[in-house]
Amino acid sequence: MTEHVDVLIVGAGLSGIGAAYHLQAAFPAKTYAILEARDAIGGTWDLFRYPGVRSDSDMFTLGYRFRPWTKAQAIADGPSILGYVRATAAEAGIERHVRFGHRVTRAAWSSEQARWTVEASRPDGETVALTCGFLLMCSGYYRYDQGYLPTFDGIGNFRGQVVHPQHWPADLDYAGKRVVVIGSGATAVTLVPALAETAEHVTMLQRSPTYILTMPAEDVIAVQLRKLLGTRRGYAVTRWKNVAVMTLIYKLSRRRPDMIRGWIRQMAIKQLPAGYDVDTHFKPVYNPWDQRLCLVPDGDLFQAIRDGRASVATDRVKTFTERGVVLESGTELGADIVVTATGLQLLALGGAELTVDGRPVRLPETMAYKGMMLSGVPNFAFTIGYTNASWTLKADLVSEFACRLLRYMDARGYDTCVPVNDDPTVTPQPLLDFQAGYVLRSIDQFPRAGSRAPWRLGMSYAHDVVTLRHGKIDDGSMRFSRGRQEPRPFGSNLTATRPVAG
Ligand SMILES: Cc1cc2nc3c(=O)[nH]c(=O)nc-3n(C[C@H](O)[C@H](O)[C@H](O)COP(=O)(O)OP(=O)(O)OC[C@H]3O[C@@H](n4cnc5c(N)ncnc54)[C@H](O)[C@@H]3O)c2cc1C
Repeated sequence: MTEHVDVLIVGAGLSGIGAAYHLQAAFPAKTYAILEARDAIGGTWDLFRYPGVRSDSDMFTLGYRFRPWTKAQAIADGPSILGYVRATAAEAGIERHVRFGHRVTRAAWSSEQARWTVEASRPDGETVALTCGFLLMCSGYYRYDQGYLPTFDGIGNFRGQVVHPQHWPADLDYAGKRVVVIGSGATAVTLVPALAETAEHVTMLQRSPTYILTMPAEDVIAVQLRKLLGTRRGYAVTRWKNVAVMTLIYKLSRRRPDMIRGWIRQMAIKQLPAGYDVDTHFKPVYNPWDQRLCLVPDGDLFQAIRDGRASVATDRVKTFTERGVVLESGTELGADIVVTATGLQLLALGGAELTVDGRPVRLPETMAYKGMMLSGVPNFAFTIGYTNASWTLKADLVSEFACRLLRYMDARGYDTCVPVNDDPTVTPQPLLDFQAGYVLRSIDQFPRAGSRAPWRLGMSYAHDVVTLRHGKIDDGSMRFSRGRQEPRPFGSNLTATRPVAG
């Protein structure tokens, strides 16, 4: 007989472990399992192993709401974050619910049975099926098997080594070598100072500059608050303090971009050698927060440039040669190792295919409800974090809302909930209003957002606290039912067939 659980979580990364914590705290009697494609807990923080890997947002907001981050570092290294996620799973007894080596490929909803049948493939080729009442996708947002690599002319001619940060060879020896890092995002700015500690020289080769903001590696206010208020309350206050600071910077970036641009430029000038060409290498063409800001702890990137261990080339690759890279300007960068920090390939729902009563769910035809459920897809939620703040802020709220929804249904005897958009004035919009290349490359494979609440893309944590933690569950767009249910249309602006008053 097929095994059944009340809730099935897909993914044992930061989000999946957090979701399990919330779920078992709220419903000790509910059964659940976590299906994880890999053989380890931690997701991103287990996969990425390049030198210096670290968070690029502060740990007081990247940490869970329920588990204080107690280290002094505000920007933490990857192994510490992995340790934090694993300790959460171990201490809360979540580990034993994780089924490793289960890659979810399909999930089929039956309205008649009010349950999902979920199929997962195992490394030995076997397919395993489970059923569940509620499906929570915590599968992240990108492909694990492959990073993004643009086509570079002549790359096959290069005699040195080409490495992608997503597949960093554990034994790569870069000491005393000339390294070129292609890219200007969070990964590149992390890698450059880390490699520059032992490499002969590191060049960051970027097509165009990114906004880079120095922040103290340690949050002294957080340390004081912890002493004053104790671990839990100090953490809660620090979390809100950091939310407030990042929200202020974000809002000012939107309303007064020139002011923020000028402020970031002045900070860069102070940290770079006298006469440095700041405008060529550190003045982006877009406004702050059109793409994610890169945070660097204690300005380590600028320090490496000041020390002459690293430099920046703002140019384009013309071709690779045997010895290195020739740029469009004609300059040749000699290299022993080239690191292609060229980004991720986005992947929605971990590549799983969904059907509802036999009909395939085409994601671009669905609309995201509160940025966490899909129109026309019952008993289903997904976790995608903020682009302008730490991922976990949203992940915690998604789990909390899913628990509220389950409690609401339990109390009233419903077995099915489904968001339905039947308002013809709600117009579709991109799910991520973000200009980064990796988003623009694949946003058309993702669900849409809508022009109005609850379909509008929420990028404000404070607003989401109000709506997800405290807002009405039965808001008119969420439809509830018990027993057999007629199939509903997925798309926006389509009328629901049989709403049940809640
Ligand atoms: C290098 C790097 C640094 C980052 N730094 C930050 C930061 O500082 N701040 C921030 O807010 N965000 C950051 N992010 C975004 C980051 O991914 C999130 O912070 C967070 O780790 C996401 O957690 P997650 O559990 O949702 O997804 P992931 O960490 O991606 O974990 C998803 C898990 O689901 C599993 N999975 C996927 N598909 C399936 C499937 N079909 N079946 C079964 N299992 C599946 C994966 O194997 C994985 O274990 C960073 C991302 C990267 C790549």
